[in-house]
Amino acid sequence: MPSQEIHTVMQASATAFEAFRKLSANHRATFLDAIAEGLENAGDALLELASSETNLPIPRLRGEMGRTCFQLRMFAKEIRNGHWVEAIIDHAMPDKNPPAPDIRRMRIPLGPIVVFGASNFPFAYSTAGGDTASALAAGCSVVIKQHPAHPQTSNRVFEIIQQAIKKTNMPAFVVQHVEDKGFATGQGLVQHPASAAVGFTGSYAGGMALVNYAHERKHPIPVFAEMGSTNPVLLFPGALTDDASGIAEKYAGSITLGMGQFCTNPGLLLAIDSPALVDFEQALARNIEKIAMAAMLHPGIEKAYITKTREALAQKGVTLITQADKNVVDENPVACIARISANDFLENPMVHEEIFGPWSLMVVCKDAGEMLACRQAVAGQLTTTIMANNNDLATFGPLIDSAVYNAGRVVFNSVPTGVEVCNAMVHGGPHPACTDSRFTAVGPLAIQRWTRPVCWQNAPAELLPPELQEENPLGIRRLVDGVLIS
Ligand code: NAP
Repeated sequence: MPSQEIHTVMQASATAFEAFRKLSANHRATFLDAIAEGLENAGDALLELASSETNLPIPRLRGEMGRTCFQLRMFAKEIRNGHWVEAIIDHAMPDKNPPAPDIRRMRIPLGPIVVFGASNFPFAYSTAGGDTASALAAGCSVVIKQHPAHPQTSNRVFEIIQQAIKKTNMPAFVVQHVEDKGFATGQGLVQHPASAAVGFTGSYAGGMALVNYAHERKHPIPVFAEMGSTNPVLLFPGALTDDASGIAEKYAGSITLGMGQFCTNPGLLLAIDSPALVDFEQALARNIEKIAMAAMLHPGIEKAYITKTREALAQKGVTLITQADKNVVDENPVACIARISANDFLENPMVHEEIFGPWSLMVVCKDAGEMLACRQAVAGQLTTTIMANNNDLATFGPLIDSAVYNAGRVVFNSVPTGVEVCNAMVHGGPHPACTDSRFTAVGPLAIQRWTRPVCWQNAPAELLPPELQEENPLGIRRLVDGVLIS
């Protein structure tokens, strides 16, 4: 897209932001509700369109659509109750020595946000997905860079957003949609002076390229990029002795769910060598072999999966345990599980990296010390899972405790796939899982990514926003002189 067009889009976004941020939260909420209603009214035709572009089955897309509409309404509810601004008032203390001024603080929207949609969630993390919904809820305008893997779906969803703009009298350019393929367009959007922040879900290379563009600007801006994760699973011996086959069945399902195209896919299984581990490996192999394969999201992802699994299998000490369909020819993606010793794993950082798809590498450790070393060798993660019985929890305490420090979510005796949309969810994590571990991309608190705190000192009452006015006209929860008042 020529730079003049990028300029026009971002200028329009900046103008829309000025009008949009001044609208009441209730008015903004009606807009989010109207998008949800429009998506629901689009019915199966929209699901079929997305299925034709992404190879994702209709039942999966129906669930994703439900999640997308739920998120839009959740953010509408969140801004209606007003707690998200985190209002704090510290009244003046003239008798203090020296006298303390009146200080009032709340969160305000950042400005126009550039959103890069995810290929693996054509609804829930794309055009009207969580990044767009949370940015609009915060009072930001949004420029969506269409994902090239589902352009028609993205166009249709944008039409629905435009109808909601008209229906609820929003500023015309509060959401815009850029269809042009090519990194130069993405770069131009991120580096335009009017852009205030970036939301991204996709590859490590893509996310880090956006971070670099953002830092090259005269005034750098925040980039919230959700990138890769191997989601280590710590399989403890007691849990495997109790139920090797049950755990294997769960994990075969989780590794291959949606052809493994989830950022929370369990790509790394860490375990201590034992007879129970042999039982687990055999049961996992039997279950994997039964799974039917399907096409992946787009040819680029499919090619990357085939290339990366081949490269991984060629690494020193990596042996294939089994693959889902032994008749699959080399050009087709197939679920694979492989094994490596902890020693070989620790020596080769390449096998620590995510392979996006139905792949999992089992690292066989001699003891808890090796397991801890392997856990520490992998960098930041979206999730770490602990499969442990009570005896394991007592025996391996330090190892389990350490899991908290490299992951956004620690899962006990379950699978990491499936991210609940709820208040307490953390879908984020230290680098390289994400570029900013202080935030979540899922749940109401995702709104914080597009806001910053401001405080007013000794401001005249008539200049204060309603959230900070003495009489609390919006009836929101506030921390007043250290006391939480709801
Ligand atoms: P991607 O290649 O990272 O692309 C995502 C979006 O970012 C596209 O719109 C792309 O622009 C843009 N982009 C990528 N690199 C860029 C750059 N250097 N400059 C400007 N824009 C850039 O992601 P994908 O196509 O969805 O999948 C590729 C890989 O990403 C997968 O194999 C997987 O490893 C990973 N992935 C991870 C997640 C996750 O949840 N973390 C989800 C999906 C995929 P264009 O439109 O110009 O191509």
